[in-house]
Amino acid sequence: MSNPLRRWWQRRRLERAHADIDPALWPEVCAALPLLDGFDAPARRRLIDSAALFLHQKTFEAAGGAELSLRTGMELALQAALPVLELGLDWYQGWHAVIVYPDEFVPAREVVDEDGLVWVDDEPKSGEAWEQGPVILSLTDALDGRERSGYNVVIHEMAHKLDLCDGAANGHPPLHRGMDDTAWAGHMQRAYDDLCRRADAAPELSPALFMVDPYGATSPAEFFAVTSELFFELPHRLRAAYPEVYAELADFYRQDPALRLRPVSGRSA
Ligand SMILES: [Zn+2]
Repeated sequence: MSNPLRRWWQRRRLERAHADIDPALWPEVCAALPLLDGFDAPARRRLIDSAALFLHQKTFEAAGGAELSLRTGMELALQAALPVLELGLDWYQGWHAVIVYPDEFVPAREVVDEDGLVWVDDEPKSGEAWEQGPVILSLTDALDGRERSGYNVVIHEMAHKLDLCDGAANGHPPLHRGMDDTAWAGHMQRAYDDLCRRADAAPELSPALFMVDPYGATSPAEFFAVTSELFFELPHRLRAAYPEVYAELADFYRQDPALRLRPVSGRSA
């Protein structure tokens, strides 16, 4: 497509995406999400455009009696748009549905593990991202995104989607030109090993008392998702805990949230 035609088509698509939403609602919804603080006006505009396109392109489905208002959809879309603000929505290609449950949900499906054993996964979940399938969210957990607590299920599941762009959930998404795969793997592995050691050493310790949620010690894929949550929610904390991971994520997401956000006071900084 030629450039002028492409620009026209992109503008048209954006107009359609914005058509059904009162523009005055976006600033209100943004204000409810402190992790979006500190953007200048052009960046905020791009984030809102990206969230409007996300809402337009994806199908939002309420399941299990969830109440899904436009405003809630906008809140979820803004959080989903944040990690790809500098990457582009094309990173979310190949899947269409966001399914929202009112609370934690139990998939109760059969899983085949590495040893070929079949078992039923009936663990309650706050979110899931299927390869080339939907993202599933617990609304109660997703609304925790209104606080900068370090926990953000929307960013967590979107990080899994980015990780899956090369087909493998391994904590190593396709990196940009100029980034070093070996350096990424080394920095992530060292920090992952450290978190595993800390989690093993204090299995009874409340997750809230760790600098990085020990759920990240489950697998390299979960480590990438958990550190991505922290990167956008409490960047100063991640930078203090694992500066090399922070730097890799800043290169990958092409953002530096520690410059944009104020540190949260107390140990959760
Ligand atoms: Zn996960």
